[in-house]
Amino acid sequence: MSSRGDGTHRPATRVVTGGRSGDFADHVVNPPVWRASTHLYDDCASLREGPKANADGRFFYGRRGAPTQWALCEALTELEAGAAGTVLYPSGLAAIVGSLMAVLRSGDVLLVADNAYDPTRNTAMGLLKQFGVEHRFFDPLDLDAYRTAFCDRTRAVMLEVPGSLTMEVCDIPQLAAIARERGVVSLIDNTWATALGFPALERGCDIAITALTKHVGGHSDLMMGAASAGERWYRRLRITAQQLGHVVSPDDAALALRGLRTMPLRLERETASALAIAEWLDQRDDVAHVLCPMLPGSPGHALWQRDFTGACGLFSFVIAGRDDAARCRLVDRLELFGIGYSWGGFESLALPFDVEPVRTKMAWPKDGWGLEDRHAVRLSIGLEDTDDLIADLARGFAAMDGG
Ligand SMILES: *Cc1c(COP(=O)(O)O)cnc(C)c1O
Repeated sequence: MSSRGDGTHRPATRVVTGGRSGDFADHVVNPPVWRASTHLYDDCASLREGPKANADGRFFYGRRGAPTQWALCEALTELEAGAAGTVLYPSGLAAIVGSLMAVLRSGDVLLVADNAYDPTRNTAMGLLKQFGVEHRFFDPLDLDAYRTAFCDRTRAVMLEVPGSLTMEVCDIPQLAAIARERGVVSLIDNTWATALGFPALERGCDIAITALTKHVGGHSDLMMGAASAGERWYRRLRITAQQLGHVVSPDDAALALRGLRTMPLRLERETASALAIAEWLDQRDDVAHVLCPMLPGSPGHALWQRDFTGACGLFSFVIAGRDDAARCRLVDRLELFGIGYSWGGFESLALPFDVEPVRTKMAWPKDGWGLEDRHAVRLSIGLEDTDDLIADLARGFAAMDGG
């Protein structure tokens, strides 16, 4: 069976057929888990051909991956319009750092969206600085400030949409185009929407990064990341990942492939549930703001409608005029929402957060918001019954005010 994407099928179909060529799976549906480090060669001549054979997608040595991982790479590449290939990493953060190291050199300046994932900011301020790369944070909602942030040493810009925790939707096609005009590479952390909800390369970005730990894994039992790009950057990504010695286990690759097959269904369900919950929150007097791009009237909704083809169950809300202790009473009372980092699993999660410590360029609270509205909670909506989740939240709000 050949299932290689010919570009005629829609994403939901490609999620099912991707990476299932006979080369990987033979006559079973899923590629076997290839546990192997060593490849045995018949003779010295074939040993010497080994590295070359690897370039044609044949097994050479475990660190270069094996058919289970290649099947996953191929499936992800088929999903990302405009991609020539995909590189896997042992975590989402490793994918971000590996991609940045592929494009940056000592003396370069990296622009980082101020609302990027906090560990991305830390890498810019830590490891990259150590290797002689400077960084500048910018407000991705302010295009004029962004334009003036470039200098002749700017090599790359790190984008993310929606913003981590605060969920702002920036104008990625514009931000990427402005970078491209200046010969600057744009990378995007596309974990929230995935290639299904935001075709990042088609929207002008050069490298699309996804933490597979979240929606692709989907079951809170896997850490992995991926970066997809067109031919030029894919080659750099691959060489850099090889030099960093990155490899993911075939067992984890098989789990990621399994998760991928049902991802569109899970995303659809989570999104519908999240929207219903966001609407419910939006009507409450004790909620000051709902930060959810899919919610009509929410900040960023118009850009989300224009640029996205989907969403997910992750959004935030800001509690009106209560203190941290009240917020903790709310969160602690929840039974169906686990308290924890991460998201994108089948189970719902709640995470209290305050933004001030992780923003340097964007104002928080935002213009026109009350100073007292600063305690926020991020929700990752899972696959539970929506009404049960709303009832759970209602009990939390009652507990918040001592009920
Ligand atoms: C979780 C997350 C990552 C990192 O993924 P890990 O697999 O936990 O390293 C990167 N970006 C975003 C937006 C995330 O939420």
